[in-house]
Amino acid sequence: PRRDHLPEGAPVARFSFELYPPRSEAAERALHESLGLLVATRPEFISVTYGASGSTRDLSLGVLRHLLTTPVPPMAHLTCVGWTYDEASRIIREFLDAGLTSFLALRGDPPQGFVEGEDFLGDLKSAGELVQLIHRVQAEKAQFHEEAIPGLPGAVRLRSGRKVTIAVAAFPNGHPRSRSVEQDLDTLLAKEAAGANLAITQLFFEADDYLRFVEQARRAGVTMRILPGIMPILSPQRLHRMVELTQERMPTALLRRLESVGSPEAQYDVGIQHAIELSRAVLTGPDDGIHLYTFNKHEAVLDVLDGVGLLPDTVTTPIKENA
Ligand code: FAD
Repeated sequence: PRRDHLPEGAPVARFSFELYPPRSEAAERALHESLGLLVATRPEFISVTYGASGSTRDLSLGVLRHLLTTPVPPMAHLTCVGWTYDEASRIIREFLDAGLTSFLALRGDPPQGFVEGEDFLGDLKSAGELVQLIHRVQAEKAQFHEEAIPGLPGAVRLRSGRKVTIAVAAFPNGHPRSRSVEQDLDTLLAKEAAGANLAITQLFFEADDYLRFVEQARRAGVTMRILPGIMPILSPQRLHRMVELTQERMPTALLRRLESVGSPEAQYDVGIQHAIELSRAVLTGPDDGIHLYTFNKHEAVLDVLDGVGLLPDTVTTPIKENA
Protein backbone atom coordinates (compact mmCIF):
# COMPACT_ATOMS: atom_id res chain seq x y z
CA PRO A 1 0.00 0.00 0.00
CA ARG A 2 1.15 3.52 -0.79
CA ARG A 3 1.64 6.42 1.54
CA ASP A 4 1.06 9.08 -1.10
CA HIS A 5 0.16 11.86 1.19
CA LEU A 6 3.32 12.08 3.27
CA PRO A 7 6.24 14.35 2.58
CA GLU A 8 9.11 12.28 1.31
CA GLY A 9 11.61 11.24 3.93
CA ALA A 10 9.38 12.35 6.81
CA PRO A 11 9.42 10.07 9.84
CA VAL A 12 6.03 8.41 10.03
CA ALA A 13 4.02 7.93 13.17
CA ARG A 14 1.97 4.75 13.07
CA PHE A 15 -1.10 6.36 14.59
CA SER A 16 -3.50 9.23 14.05
CA PHE A 17 -6.46 10.68 15.93
CA GLU A 18 -9.99 11.85 15.26
CA LEU A 19 -11.73 14.56 17.25
CA TYR A 20 -14.86 16.64 16.91
CA PRO A 21 -15.27 20.41 17.26
CA PRO A 22 -16.26 21.50 20.80
CA ARG A 23 -19.75 22.98 21.11
CA SER A 24 -19.40 24.98 24.35
CA GLU A 25 -16.76 27.13 25.99
CA ALA A 26 -16.21 24.52 28.70
CA ALA A 27 -15.79 21.81 26.06
CA GLU A 28 -13.37 24.07 24.19
CA ARG A 29 -11.22 24.56 27.30
CA ALA A 30 -11.20 20.81 27.97
CA LEU A 31 -10.28 20.06 24.37
CA HIS A 32 -7.48 22.59 24.43
CA GLU A 33 -5.80 20.72 27.28
CA SER A 34 -6.23 17.30 25.66
CA LEU A 35 -5.16 18.62 22.29
CA GLY A 36 -1.81 19.74 23.70
CA LEU A 37 -1.13 16.19 24.90
CA LEU A 38 -2.36 14.60 21.68
CA VAL A 39 -0.15 16.92 19.61
CA ALA A 40 2.83 16.11 21.86
CA THR A 41 2.69 12.47 20.71
CA ARG A 42 3.31 13.69 17.11
CA PRO A 43 0.66 11.60 15.35
CA GLU A 44 0.68 11.25 11.57
CA PHE A 45 -2.35 13.58 11.47
CA ILE A 46 -5.39 14.65 13.50
CA SER A 47 -8.75 14.63 11.76
CA VAL A 48 -11.67 16.87 12.74
CA THR A 49 -15.26 15.79 12.07
CA TYR A 50 -17.74 17.89 10.15
CA GLY A 51 -21.47 18.25 10.52
CA ALA A 52 -21.69 15.18 12.75
CA SER A 53 -23.87 15.78 15.84
CA GLY A 54 -24.76 19.28 14.70
CA SER A 55 -21.25 20.74 14.48
CA THR A 56 -20.85 23.52 11.96
CA ARG A 57 -18.26 24.52 9.40
CA ASP A 58 -17.02 27.38 11.56
CA LEU A 59 -16.50 25.14 14.58
CA SER A 60 -14.57 22.60 12.51
CA LEU A 61 -12.49 25.28 10.82
CA GLY A 62 -11.64 26.81 14.22
CA VAL A 63 -10.04 23.56 15.44
CA LEU A 64 -8.37 22.96 12.06
CA ARG A 65 -6.88 26.46 12.03
CA HIS A 66 -5.52 25.85 15.52
CA LEU A 67 -3.97 22.56 14.39
CA LEU A 68 -2.29 24.38 11.50
CA THR A 69 -0.27 26.27 14.11
CA THR A 70 1.05 22.96 15.53
CA PRO A 71 3.55 20.51 13.99
CA VAL A 72 0.74 17.98 13.38
CA PRO A 73 -0.98 18.00 9.97
CA PRO A 74 -4.76 18.42 10.27
CA MET A 75 -7.26 16.48 8.18
CA ALA A 76 -10.64 18.09 7.54
CA HIS A 77 -13.73 15.89 7.29
CA LEU A 78 -16.22 17.26 4.75
CA THR A 79 -19.73 15.96 4.15
CA CYS A 80 -21.76 16.81 1.06
CA VAL A 81 -25.33 15.97 2.11
CA GLY A 82 -27.65 18.82 1.12
CA TRP A 83 -25.06 20.90 -0.74
CA THR A 84 -25.37 22.47 -4.18
CA TYR A 85 -22.30 22.35 -6.42
CA ASP A 86 -21.71 26.05 -5.81
CA GLU A 87 -21.90 25.74 -2.04
CA ALA A 88 -19.64 22.70 -2.08
CA SER A 89 -17.06 24.43 -4.29
CA ARG A 90 -17.11 27.54 -2.10
CA ILE A 91 -16.62 25.57 1.12
CA ILE A 92 -13.81 23.47 -0.36
CA ARG A 93 -12.10 26.66 -1.57
CA GLU A 94 -12.47 28.20 1.90
CA PHE A 95 -10.78 25.16 3.46
CA LEU A 96 -7.98 25.17 0.87
CA ASP A 97 -7.49 28.92 1.38
CA ALA A 98 -7.14 28.30 5.12
CA GLY A 99 -4.11 26.13 4.26
CA LEU A 100 -5.68 22.68 4.54
CA THR A 101 -4.36 19.98 2.23
CA SER A 102 -5.86 16.82 3.77
CA PHE A 103 -9.52 15.91 3.59
CA LEU A 104 -11.78 13.04 4.55
CA ALA A 105 -14.51 13.19 1.90
CA LEU A 106 -17.82 11.80 3.13
CA ARG A 107 -21.36 11.72 1.94
CA GLY A 108 -22.68 12.36 5.46
CA ASP A 109 -25.59 10.83 7.33
CA PRO A 110 -29.23 11.70 6.66
CA PRO A 111 -30.13 14.99 8.39
CA GLN A 112 -32.63 14.96 11.29
CA GLY A 113 -36.09 14.00 10.14
CA PHE A 114 -34.83 11.97 7.16
CA VAL A 115 -34.02 8.29 6.80
CA GLU A 116 -31.76 6.45 4.37
CA GLY A 117 -33.34 6.22 0.93
CA GLU A 118 -35.34 9.48 1.22
CA ASP A 119 -34.42 12.50 -0.85
CA PHE A 120 -31.98 14.33 1.40
CA LEU A 121 -28.96 14.48 -0.89
CA GLY A 122 -28.04 17.68 -2.74
CA ASP A 123 -26.20 18.00 -6.04
CA LEU A 124 -23.50 15.55 -4.93
CA LYS A 125 -24.89 12.04 -4.60
CA SER A 126 -21.94 10.22 -3.06
CA ALA A 127 -18.57 10.63 -1.41
CA GLY A 128 -16.92 9.78 -4.76
CA GLU A 129 -18.40 12.90 -6.34
CA LEU A 130 -17.07 14.99 -3.46
CA VAL A 131 -13.60 13.48 -3.99
CA GLN A 132 -13.72 14.57 -7.64
CA LEU A 133 -14.91 18.05 -6.73
CA ILE A 134 -12.11 18.55 -4.18
CA HIS A 135 -9.58 17.59 -6.88
CA ARG A 136 -11.22 19.97 -9.37
CA VAL A 137 -11.30 22.93 -6.96
CA GLN A 138 -7.71 22.23 -5.94
CA ALA A 139 -6.61 22.09 -9.60
CA GLU A 140 -8.36 25.40 -10.32
CA LYS A 141 -6.69 26.97 -7.33
CA ALA A 142 -3.30 25.62 -8.43
CA GLN A 143 -3.76 27.17 -11.87
CA PHE A 144 -4.80 30.46 -10.32
CA HIS A 145 -1.50 30.46 -8.44
CA GLU A 146 0.63 29.82 -11.51
CA GLU A 147 3.52 32.22 -11.49
CA ALA A 148 5.47 33.53 -14.44
CA ILE A 149 9.18 32.71 -14.19
CA PRO A 150 11.17 35.95 -14.51
CA GLY A 151 13.29 36.08 -17.63
CA LEU A 152 11.48 33.21 -19.37
CA PRO A 153 8.80 33.51 -22.04
CA GLY A 154 5.32 34.03 -20.64
CA ALA A 155 4.27 30.56 -21.72
CA VAL A 156 6.66 28.91 -19.26
CA ARG A 157 5.03 28.86 -15.89
CA LEU A 158 5.63 27.32 -12.53
CA ARG A 159 2.86 25.45 -10.82
CA SER A 160 2.77 26.12 -7.10
CA GLY A 161 -0.28 23.99 -6.31
CA ARG A 162 0.21 21.56 -3.46
CA LYS A 163 -0.84 17.95 -3.55
CA VAL A 164 -3.94 17.09 -1.56
CA THR A 165 -4.65 13.97 0.44
CA ILE A 166 -8.21 12.81 0.00
CA ALA A 167 -9.29 10.11 2.37
CA VAL A 168 -12.63 8.29 2.24
CA ALA A 169 -14.65 6.06 4.55
CA ALA A 170 -14.54 2.26 4.33
CA PHE A 171 -16.86 -0.18 6.07
CA PRO A 172 -15.30 -3.56 7.00
CA ASN A 173 -18.71 -4.89 8.06
CA GLY A 174 -20.66 -3.15 5.33
CA HIS A 175 -22.36 0.23 5.15
CA PRO A 176 -25.86 -0.10 6.64
CA ARG A 177 -27.34 0.76 3.22
CA SER A 178 -25.18 -1.67 1.31
CA ARG A 179 -26.70 -4.97 0.19
CA SER A 180 -23.51 -7.02 -0.17
CA VAL A 181 -19.77 -7.11 0.40
CA GLU A 182 -19.37 -6.67 -3.35
CA GLN A 183 -21.27 -3.38 -3.25
CA ASP A 184 -19.05 -2.10 -0.45
CA LEU A 185 -15.93 -3.09 -2.39
CA ASP A 186 -17.28 -1.49 -5.58
CA THR A 187 -18.04 1.72 -3.67
CA LEU A 188 -14.50 1.79 -2.30
CA LEU A 189 -13.00 1.10 -5.73
CA ALA A 190 -15.12 3.91 -7.19
CA LYS A 191 -13.83 6.29 -4.52
CA GLU A 192 -10.24 5.37 -5.38
CA ALA A 193 -10.98 5.78 -9.10
CA ALA A 194 -12.38 9.24 -8.29
CA GLY A 195 -9.01 10.17 -6.79
CA ALA A 196 -9.05 9.09 -3.15
CA ASN A 197 -5.64 8.08 -1.83
CA LEU A 198 -6.41 6.83 1.69
CA ALA A 199 -9.31 4.96 3.32
CA ILE A 200 -10.22 5.11 7.01
CA THR A 201 -12.54 2.46 8.40
CA GLN A 202 -15.65 2.58 10.45
CA LEU A 203 -15.06 1.12 13.91
CA PHE A 204 -15.15 -2.66 14.22
CA PHE A 205 -14.88 -4.97 17.22
CA GLU A 206 -12.98 -8.00 15.87
CA ALA A 207 -9.57 -7.75 14.18
CA ASP A 208 -10.64 -10.39 11.64
CA ASP A 209 -13.40 -8.09 10.36
CA TYR A 210 -10.73 -5.58 9.30
CA LEU A 211 -8.10 -8.08 8.12
CA ARG A 212 -10.65 -9.96 5.97
CA PHE A 213 -11.94 -6.71 4.47
CA VAL A 214 -8.44 -5.53 3.54
CA GLU A 215 -7.75 -8.87 1.88
CA GLN A 216 -11.01 -8.67 -0.10
CA ALA A 217 -10.31 -5.04 -1.05
CA ARG A 218 -6.83 -5.93 -2.35
CA ARG A 219 -8.26 -8.81 -4.38
CA ALA A 220 -10.86 -6.40 -5.80
CA GLY A 221 -8.06 -4.03 -6.90
CA VAL A 222 -8.03 -1.38 -4.16
CA THR A 223 -4.43 -0.20 -3.75
CA MET A 224 -4.72 2.77 -1.37
CA ARG A 225 -3.88 2.41 2.31
CA ILE A 226 -6.79 1.28 4.48
CA LEU A 227 -6.32 2.63 7.99
CA PRO A 228 -8.24 0.80 10.72
CA GLY A 229 -10.43 3.07 12.87
CA ILE A 230 -10.26 1.98 16.50
CA MET A 231 -12.45 3.24 19.31
CA PRO A 232 -11.77 2.40 22.96
CA ILE A 233 -15.15 1.29 24.35
CA LEU A 234 -15.06 2.33 27.98
CA SER A 235 -18.57 1.46 29.21
CA PRO A 236 -21.58 -0.68 28.26
CA GLN A 237 -23.51 2.57 27.66
CA ARG A 238 -20.98 3.72 25.06
CA LEU A 239 -21.05 0.33 23.40
CA HIS A 240 -24.86 0.41 23.11
CA ARG A 241 -24.71 3.96 21.71
CA MET A 242 -22.04 3.13 19.13
CA VAL A 243 -23.89 0.01 17.98
CA GLU A 244 -27.03 2.13 17.60
CA LEU A 245 -25.19 4.82 15.61
CA THR A 246 -23.16 2.54 13.34
CA GLN A 247 -25.62 -0.37 13.12
CA GLU A 248 -22.70 -2.73 13.66
CA ARG A 249 -23.54 -6.15 15.15
CA MET A 250 -23.38 -6.11 18.98
CA PRO A 251 -20.11 -7.75 20.15
CA THR A 252 -21.70 -9.80 22.92
CA ALA A 253 -18.43 -11.09 24.40
CA LEU A 254 -17.15 -7.51 24.87
CA LEU A 255 -20.52 -6.41 26.27
CA ARG A 256 -20.43 -9.28 28.78
CA ARG A 257 -16.86 -8.41 29.80
CA LEU A 258 -17.85 -4.77 30.35
CA GLU A 259 -20.97 -5.70 32.30
CA SER A 260 -19.25 -8.32 34.43
CA VAL A 261 -16.99 -5.78 36.15
CA GLY A 262 -18.65 -3.38 38.54
CA SER A 263 -16.84 -0.07 38.64
CA PRO A 264 -16.31 2.52 35.89
CA GLU A 265 -12.55 2.15 36.49
CA ALA A 266 -12.66 -1.59 35.84
CA GLN A 267 -14.82 -1.02 32.74
CA TYR A 268 -12.25 1.50 31.51
CA ASP A 269 -9.55 -1.15 31.89
CA VAL A 270 -11.62 -3.71 29.94
CA GLY A 271 -12.18 -1.19 27.13
CA ILE A 272 -8.51 -0.21 26.95
CA GLN A 273 -7.40 -3.83 26.97
CA HIS A 274 -9.83 -4.63 24.13
CA ALA A 275 -8.56 -1.66 22.06
CA ILE A 276 -4.93 -2.73 22.72
CA GLU A 277 -5.67 -6.29 21.58
CA LEU A 278 -7.42 -5.01 18.43
CA SER A 279 -4.55 -2.63 17.67
CA ARG A 280 -1.89 -5.32 18.13
CA ALA A 281 -3.76 -7.65 15.80
CA VAL A 282 -4.07 -5.08 12.99
CA LEU A 283 -0.56 -3.65 13.31
CA THR A 284 0.96 -6.51 11.36
CA GLY A 285 3.66 -4.72 9.37
CA PRO A 286 5.97 -1.72 9.83
CA ASP A 287 3.85 0.38 7.43
CA ASP A 288 0.59 -0.25 9.26
CA GLY A 289 -1.09 2.34 11.43
CA ILE A 290 -4.15 2.83 13.61
CA HIS A 291 -6.62 5.73 13.58
CA LEU A 292 -7.93 6.30 17.10
CA TYR A 293 -11.29 7.85 17.88
CA THR A 294 -10.58 10.13 20.85
CA PHE A 295 -13.98 11.54 21.92
CA ASN A 296 -11.88 14.69 22.53
CA LYS A 297 -10.09 13.08 25.46
CA HIS A 298 -6.46 12.07 25.62
CA GLU A 299 -6.33 9.53 28.47
CA ALA A 300 -7.79 6.48 26.76
CA VAL A 301 -5.95 6.82 23.44
CA LEU A 302 -2.62 7.47 25.18
CA ASP A 303 -3.18 4.37 27.31
CA VAL A 304 -3.88 2.36 24.16
CA LEU A 305 -0.73 3.70 22.47
CA ASP A 306 1.25 2.88 25.60
CA GLY A 307 -0.16 -0.66 25.57
CA VAL A 308 0.95 -1.28 21.98
CA GLY A 309 4.34 0.35 22.49
CA LEU A 310 3.73 3.34 20.20
CA LEU A 311 3.72 6.09 22.81
CA PRO A 312 6.85 8.25 22.51
CA ASP A 313 9.04 8.29 25.62
CA THR A 314 8.59 12.05 25.85
CA VAL A 315 4.91 11.66 26.74
CA THR A 316 3.83 10.35 30.13
CA THR A 317 0.48 8.72 30.86
CA PRO A 318 -1.10 7.90 34.22
CA ILE A 319 -0.20 4.23 33.55
CA LYS A 320 3.48 5.08 33.14
CA GLU A 321 3.42 7.33 36.21
CA ASN A 322 1.91 4.55 38.35
CA ALA A 323 4.25 1.87 37.02
P1 FAD B 1 -20.81 6.95 0.18
O1 FAD B 1 -19.51 6.37 -0.19
O2 FAD B 1 -21.41 7.94 -0.74
O3 FAD B 1 -21.79 5.71 0.39
C1 FAD B 1 -23.05 5.80 1.03
C2 FAD B 1 -23.91 4.59 0.66
O4 FAD B 1 -24.33 4.75 -0.65
C3 FAD B 1 -23.19 3.23 0.70
O5 FAD B 1 -24.10 2.22 1.06
C4 FAD B 1 -22.78 3.02 -0.71
O6 FAD B 1 -22.63 1.65 -1.04
C5 FAD B 1 -23.93 3.66 -1.43
N1 FAD B 1 -23.52 4.24 -2.68
C6 FAD B 1 -22.42 5.00 -2.93
N2 FAD B 1 -22.37 5.36 -4.23
C7 FAD B 1 -23.49 4.85 -4.77
C8 FAD B 1 -24.04 4.89 -6.06
N3 FAD B 1 -23.40 5.52 -7.06
N4 FAD B 1 -25.21 4.26 -6.27
C9 FAD B 1 -25.84 3.61 -5.28
N5 FAD B 1 -25.38 3.54 -4.04
C10 FAD B 1 -24.22 4.14 -3.79
N6 FAD B 1 -20.47 11.69 9.06
C11 FAD B 1 -20.58 13.03 9.28
O7 FAD B 1 -21.68 13.58 9.15
N7 FAD B 1 -19.47 13.78 9.65
C12 FAD B 1 -18.25 13.24 9.80
O8 FAD B 1 -17.28 13.94 10.12
C13 FAD B 1 -18.11 11.82 9.60
N8 FAD B 1 -16.90 11.20 9.72
C14 FAD B 1 -16.78 9.86 9.44
C15 FAD B 1 -15.52 9.26 9.52
C16 FAD B 1 -15.37 7.89 9.21
C17 FAD B 1 -13.99 7.26 9.28
C18 FAD B 1 -16.50 7.11 8.83
C19 FAD B 1 -16.36 5.65 8.52
C20 FAD B 1 -17.76 7.71 8.77
C21 FAD B 1 -17.92 9.08 9.05
N9 FAD B 1 -19.17 9.71 8.96
C22 FAD B 1 -19.28 11.07 9.21
C23 FAD B 1 -20.38 8.94 8.62
C24 FAD B 1 -20.67 8.90 7.10
O9 FAD B 1 -21.02 10.19 6.64
C25 FAD B 1 -21.81 7.91 6.90
O10 FAD B 1 -21.39 6.61 7.19
C26 FAD B 1 -22.52 7.96 5.55
O11 FAD B 1 -23.74 7.24 5.67
C27 FAD B 1 -21.75 7.31 4.41
O12 FAD B 1 -20.74 8.10 4.00
P2 FAD B 1 -19.75 7.66 2.80
O13 FAD B 1 -18.81 8.76 2.67
O14 FAD B 1 -19.25 6.30 3.00
O15 FAD B 1 -20.83 7.64 1.58
